[in-house]
Amino acid sequence: MSDTIKSAEAFQLAWKPGSSRLANSGWVRVETEGGTIGYGEVSPMLGGEHSIDIINRYIAPMIVGADPLDHAVLYDRALHRLVKLGPEGAVTGALAGVDIALWDIKGKLLGEPIYKLLGGAWRTELPFYSSIGGNQDTTVEETLARVERRWRNEQPSAIKIRLDGDRTRQDHDLPGDIAKVKAVRALVGPDLPLAFDANNQYSISGAMRVGRVLEDLGYAWFEEPVQHYHVHAMGEVAQRLSITVSAGEQTYTTQALVDLIRSGVRMVQPDIVKMGGITGLMQCAAICFAHGVEFVPHQTQPGIGHMANLHVLSTVMHMTKPAEYADDTGRTDIAFTHPIGPENGRFRLTSRPGLGLDINEDEIARRRV
Ligand code: CA
Repeated sequence: MSDTIKSAEAFQLAWKPGSSRLANSGWVRVETEGGTIGYGEVSPMLGGEHSIDIINRYIAPMIVGADPLDHAVLYDRALHRLVKLGPEGAVTGALAGVDIALWDIKGKLLGEPIYKLLGGAWRTELPFYSSIGGNQDTTVEETLARVERRWRNEQPSAIKIRLDGDRTRQDHDLPGDIAKVKAVRALVGPDLPLAFDANNQYSISGAMRVGRVLEDLGYAWFEEPVQHYHVHAMGEVAQRLSITVSAGEQTYTTQALVDLIRSGVRMVQPDIVKMGGITGLMQCAAICFAHGVEFVPHQTQPGIGHMANLHVLSTVMHMTKPAEYADDTGRTDIAFTHPIGPENGRFRLTSRPGLGLDINEDEIARRRV
């Protein structure tokens, strides 16, 4: 069982030939002296370049020679050495990727899936919602066509429509946004749970106007109505509306998560590749349980981040919303020898050790940047 870390490296994967490096994924590969290999994933923002650099330059030399089972100590030691780089974003994304890789190794060394090591799963089949982005500058018809395709193909338990607009604009097209949320409700009928993600595009008053329409339409939640850095404004909107207001995908520390909850937000969405990895997300789950707040992690990556997220979600007693499914590009089929995409409206966890992924090593080697 006793083993030590032989190497740790982070690298970009290019999914499409000639694609922008900013669209690549950032992966972490850790190997032990005993030959066990663990994979992790960093935040995909700007192709993960900054987190990759932090791992290769600083974190890898800190952890080589250490026991991979000491992952939580290694995490906090690295965090506190790098904290003055700013513990929000690139550093926490790097730490998250390393944490996930070390949990993968831990599971493989102990011969158990990660969810067993976290205390066991309440469920190994998980419902999901289709997360459909890029709807700020579309027509109503274009948004409806996207929703209809994903709804029919994926059999989701819910659907979320994201604006993904230009963050320097505010309340850019409230009538157009309202027309889209009404049209989507009319398309899917009254029963399918729907969510709307403003991606931080509104003022408080704009958020109130759209939020009241969402309430009338029976939407299940209203995501990031105002700028994430306006924590108190987010809380004000959450407290004034009766619809559940969610935020937290741009929250990078447990301390900031508590501040968000204290502001009045009652559904939070930390992201496993942006903050904390598996260790940190379990801490977030405990914070949410202690506060009686819904814990609904954000997750947009199709492979390793996705699987790490499912392991954590499976252990949550009150899973009040489905898992996010944002990336339907089929990238998972390239990277893994066993497909991990949804089947019959569910994601499934197996009892294979660690993350339970079979990496297609030849394909990964070919796509490394
Ligand atoms: Ca979002």
